[in-house]
Amino acid sequence: MDEVLVTGGSGFIALHCIQQLLDQGFKVRCTVRSEKKRLEVMKAMEHHSSNPDFLTIVFADLLLDEGWEDAVKGCRYVLHTASPFVTQAPTNEDVLIRPAVDGTIRLLNACTVHQVEKVVLTSSFAAICYGHAEHKIYDESDWTQYNDKSVTAYAKSKTLAEKTAWDFVQSLDEKRRFKLTVLNPVGVMGPMLSDDVGTTNAELLLLLKGKFPRVPKLHVGWVDVRDVAKAHITAMTCSNTDSERIILCEKEFWLVEIAEIFRKTGFLRPSLKEMPNIIMKILALFIRDLSGIANYVGQEIYANKDKAKGIFDWEFISIEESAAETAHQLDRMGLVD
Ligand code: NDP
Repeated sequence: MDEVLVTGGSGFIALHCIQQLLDQGFKVRCTVRSEKKRLEVMKAMEHHSSNPDFLTIVFADLLLDEGWEDAVKGCRYVLHTASPFVTQAPTNEDVLIRPAVDGTIRLLNACTVHQVEKVVLTSSFAAICYGHAEHKIYDESDWTQYNDKSVTAYAKSKTLAEKTAWDFVQSLDEKRRFKLTVLNPVGVMGPMLSDDVGTTNAELLLLLKGKFPRVPKLHVGWVDVRDVAKAHITAMTCSNTDSERIILCEKEFWLVEIAEIFRKTGFLRPSLKEMPNIIMKILALFIRDLSGIANYVGQEIYANKDKAKGIFDWEFISIEESAAETAHQLDRMGLVD
């Protein structure tokens, strides 16, 4: 039975990858960085997976050398989802960049030592669509211009980590080279497998609770977490994804359209009034956390979905369905009131 390492096992996306892998009969090893998270992952799989006994949990931190070789040893495949994912702008961008980039190198080094066959890296659409002068439908040939001052530290961390991975594989001689696929999801929403709401669902919760009296005019692509996990596992075993970056996006929406979906689902707090872009830009002068998104208000950003459609042979879950399910789960968790 093949064993798969999933890094950052406690994460929103990783838990779905682990669940699907276990249910498909793979042995799974995952990394966490605290005992609390180890227990969280165990509990999640006891509740949501049919084969929790096939899961082993080990400790490894992207900022530290120890643990990575033991984590990788014996695994045929690696899904590298771990990376700090925050919406707040850190005072020092290295807080995000160092674990993303150095952690990727630590992991990939261990993959060469232990002759992993294939790595699937969770990058992001944020490594594709930012810092460009012209606006268009972005595809896999585009790279975020990370030195542009509009680019957030998070987008920079994802771009640099992905570039690092491609460069790393290129630098290996044939004998030590493993296969690499990179997935570039847009915003990911959908059901949570632990009590941790996660970064994107936490933002949706603010909208659901009516915390935005006026909704920022943001145009964002979305994909359901179950499709993201399925894409990771498909990419892991399919040779037609080798050496490819693949954007994962079901559909783009203005944030106010997500608010409309919530209202249709029966949640009446989300405002349907949009915030004038100029107000957002002024607010961003005083509230640093808004500075990243303020640069993109009013801009209609689209992702090209053709490559994913050509490779993955299933219909992605609709965002209307995903948003409604997410809202109901957040409500059942007692978080909406
Ligand atoms: P989460 O925040 O839920 O998961 C991130 C994981 O990374 C957690 O397990 C976290 O561990 C781990 N991690 C963070 N820092 C370190 C570190 N120093 N050492 C080891 N592990 C660390 O995010 P998601 O599941 O949503 O995201 C997973 C990946 O997908 C990330 O790479 C993210 O950039 C990418 N992505 C996410 C999108 C989204 O909308 N959710 C969209 C596009 C890409 P801990 O629990 O201990 O903090």
